[in-house]
Amino acid sequence: MIILSPFKISIFKQCPLRYKFHYVDKLYNKYKKERNYLSFGNSLHRTLRDFFQTSLEERTYENLEKIYRKNWVRKGYSSEEEERSWGLKGLKILKNFYRKEELNIKPFLIEKSLKGYYRSFGLYGRIDRADKIGENGIIIIDYKTGKIGEDKELSKISAVIYKFLLEKNYHKKVIKVINYYLLLSKKIEFIFNDKEFEDYLNIIAEIGLEILQERDFLPKKSNLCEYCDFLEICPAYK
Ligand code: SF4
Repeated sequence: MIILSPFKISIFKQCPLRYKFHYVDKLYNKYKKERNYLSFGNSLHRTLRDFFQTSLEERTYENLEKIYRKNWVRKGYSSEEEERSWGLKGLKILKNFYRKEELNIKPFLIEKSLKGYYRSFGLYGRIDRADKIGENGIIIIDYKTGKIGEDKELSKISAVIYKFLLEKNYHKKVIKVINYYLLLSKKIEFIFNDKEFEDYLNIIAEIGLEILQERDFLPKKSNLCEYCDFLEICPAYK
């Protein structure tokens, strides 16, 4: 059975050959590159995860910074100077976050991997944070450490997967999914009515079928190729 996740779908949509290298040929570990933006994203995700696991009294800005320093991932930076500049960018983000966010909350979930089944497909997603709202409602928060500019359809597909998995696993109602762009303190919300939700689940199943039926796995060159770990073996660049 094929397991679909937001990342897997985004890779297939970006480039079938990249998908093949990664998931069919399993060359990921061999060609994996350390990248500054990935380390930066991991550092911030871990920091916010740990911060919301502290008691309310411990949620001072000093502690937030301390947790950030402890979780800082050093890989992928080309120099100490570059690392420092990303580090400072992270501090700015955290300062803004601390100033603007409601910090006295006890999240319902933090960094939780969830699995489920839709038709003949497995679904997988990792939820950054989910907060309770009202008796039975939930808001899912997906932290984004890059710039706004992701494909909107892919964002909706990810949101539907998270909503589906949380509702199936916890029997709660997900009211909305928020993509929280930390750098700009901007939140983009996704709210689905029943029909839209069903339509997107159908789209996800169709992508699953497309992947199962794919035979050619042709390369699809784009400006995203520079972030592809398989650039050095890609026939499109020979
Ligand atoms: S370099 Fe570009 S075209 Fe080649 S596999 Fe990667 S994403 Fe696809």
